[in-house]
Amino acid sequence: MIRKTAVGTALLLLLIAGKASQGERFEPVHEAEFYEKLERKMVRCQLCPRYCIIGPGQRGVCRVRENKQGKLYSVVYGRPCTIGKEPIEKAPFFHFLPGKTRIVLATAGCNQMCKYCQNWELSQSAPEDLPSYDLEPDKIVEIAEREKAPIICFTFSEPVVFYEYMCDIAKLARKKGIRTAVVTGGYINPEPLEKLCSLVDAIKIDLKGFTSEFYRDVCGSTMEPVLEACRIVARSGTHLELVNLVVPALNDDTTRIRQMCCWIRDSLGDTIPVHFSRFGPAYRLQNSPPTPVHTLEQAARIAKDEGLKYVYVGNVPGHRLESTFCPNCGKTVLHRKGFSVLENNLVDGKCRFCKARIHGMWE
Ligand code: SF4
Repeated sequence: MIRKTAVGTALLLLLIAGKASQGERFEPVHEAEFYEKLERKMVRCQLCPRYCIIGPGQRGVCRVRENKQGKLYSVVYGRPCTIGKEPIEKAPFFHFLPGKTRIVLATAGCNQMCKYCQNWELSQSAPEDLPSYDLEPDKIVEIAEREKAPIICFTFSEPVVFYEYMCDIAKLARKKGIRTAVVTGGYINPEPLEKLCSLVDAIKIDLKGFTSEFYRDVCGSTMEPVLEACRIVARSGTHLELVNLVVPALNDDTTRIRQMCCWIRDSLGDTIPVHFSRFGPAYRLQNSPPTPVHTLEQAARIAKDEGLKYVYVGNVPGHRLESTFCPNCGKTVLHRKGFSVLENNLVDGKCRFCKARIHGMWE
């Protein structure tokens, strides 16, 4: 199925012309950048902490990287399964070009297996199971130009698994003055991440929980590489925001939330925007209740108590904590409702009322 996003009609018409067929086995199309060759035409992928060892004709855990005769290839390069146009606030990015439009795209595949994935139809599918488009990187940049979208955003499934495609789009976009942003689980090795940071303008990492057990039992992965990814992005100077989806009974323990906030403050800095988002039943957690709003408000209070300056409540349209408040004078510098910016009181990146600098990339 094609994900239904807020796609403009003109964009859809343009894309239908580039539609590829579904069901045929995808040929590996683009050699992977981070892997090593082993004996007997085996390869070891070095892109993410899984380090899959892949035999000829086989694919890695993410389903989109294939060993063809002893070389590792991406099978989704130039083959997004969804593309659309949305406000940047929907990412959510709240301190990065507010009110601007982003072209969003994703391919099939993911390197984590979160039981609550909101986009599991994309992330947990092989590319052949979904309709997709034939769109080389230059076509994506052309679409952004034609749609007058100043941002291209890699999102929905897991951009790490279409790394080479993402990097090539980002390089071309930068030449045209178009910004790029990544929405990721941050399950990626340091070397490819450092290169990615040099190519894109903003990265949002889902810090899914703050215990190894949560990562192991709910996401099928490990926590430490994600913490290291957060440190690397923060050090790089690439704009960073964090999202913590709060799932009742799984990661809503207030002691852990406090530990996470202290770690963010001490390891990344107190100006990193942090979004506590509401969980809704999905995928393998269909029977879990949505997160009570007071749980999110409690998490936000803990974050403020621990000194984080920009704290948000997400997936609760109309909530007061969708807006950005000046940490100096407390006035509203960006008044949001849902994904709309209703009032912008920033002048040259500073609060219009007290002139304090507000952390972010505003222009
Ligand atoms: S990116 Fe895919 S193939 Fe590579 S190590 Fe991770 S899961 Fe395995």
